Amino acid sequence: EGAVVAILGRPNVGKSSLLNALLHSDRAIVTPIPGTTRDVLEELVSIEGIPVRLVDTAGIRQTDDPVEAEGIRRSRLAWQDADLVLILLDGSEALSDDDLSLLSSCEAAQVILVLNKCDLPRQLSRAQLEALCPGHGGMIDISATMRLGLDELRGTIRTRL
Ligand code: GDP
Ligand code: MG
Repeated sequence: EGAVVAILGRPNVGKSSLLNALLHSDRAIVTPIPGTTRDVLEELVSIEGIPVRLVDTAGIRQTDDPVEAEGIRRSRLAWQDADLVLILLDGSEALSDDDLSLLSSCEAAQVILVLNKCDLPRQLSRAQLEALCPGHGGMIDISATMRLGLDELRGTIRTRL
């Protein structure tokens, strides 16, 4: 029961922190070490009264580690099964090749672009993203750890489901 919303992005952008923030718990392990989340994690959460199956995934990147590669394979499957995908970017860093390949393979209708770490100085401009991803209007600035922008994100998820 519930719509499936998957959080996708390269390692360390804050996917697990966002799951925890929306769940109001420390369910997923958060560390500064890229590749911490190696398996797909799903939790039921209420978003403005709507039941949502929120899926945290392993960060998608090039890797030689077989366990991490399996996690990434599952992340891509979670993407296919999702009603809605949050592509999470770290707004405090420039776009990497891993970000760009994720952005280029996304279906606009199914995706909300979310810029995390808005508590830090910004390296990534909205104009830059709009130029790269036409059709992804309404990107949302959040800080998962400082709990900023989450009401707007919940509202947007709600209207897109
Ligand atoms: P994941 O690999 O995408 O799941 O990222 P994590 O949730 O594990 O977070 C990676 C690192 O970024 C951790 O050190 C977090 O504390 C940090 N982080 C996550 N969200 C924010 C944020 O909104 N602001 C700041 N300053 N740091 C964040
Ligand atoms: Mg994680």
